[in-house]
Amino acid sequence: MLAPVLVLNANFEPINICNTRRAIGLILSGKADMVMNGRGNIHTVSLTVPRPSVIRLDMMVHRPRPRVKLTRREVFRRDNYTCQYCGRHAADLTLDHILPKHLGGEHAWTNVVAACPNCNHRKGGRQLAEAHMVLLQIPKEPSANAYYIFGRHLEKIHEWEQFIQGW
Ligand SMILES: [Zn+2]
Repeated sequence: MLAPVLVLNANFEPINICNTRRAIGLILSGKADMVMNGRGNIHTVSLTVPRPSVIRLDMMVHRPRPRVKLTRREVFRRDNYTCQYCGRHAADLTLDHILPKHLGGEHAWTNVVAACPNCNHRKGGRQLAEAHMVLLQIPKEPSANAYYIFGRHLEKIHEWEQFIQGW
């Protein structure tokens, strides 16, 4: 009942993931339709309900443009788990504020990058020029398209691909 279900807006835009229990609740209360089953049925004492994989809301939900939340995990993901100074793939990445916080650097997508402990240590609390270091690329806020938001589920749930493509 906790398996993830992809929720589409009325216009088929993927907007959310909920669990099977909630998805079935939405279907039974007439707020959503099942778009894809693919997981068999759930039998209760009185009825048999399909286990949805994808549902679609009947009413259009209007919401602001989604943004990727600024977290360590998302920064590492944006930076492809690679130190943005030396290019090394590292399991023990750290978060580096390009302009250090104590010098007024913001905690913002454009001011944080993944850095390996070596590079982070080498840079210390200095600015890039002072430390004679350069970034491999200019950091930006990742665009929150459907692939970015839901893409990590595709490895396990291939059937969602057709619903995520193009959004
Ligand atoms: Zn490094």
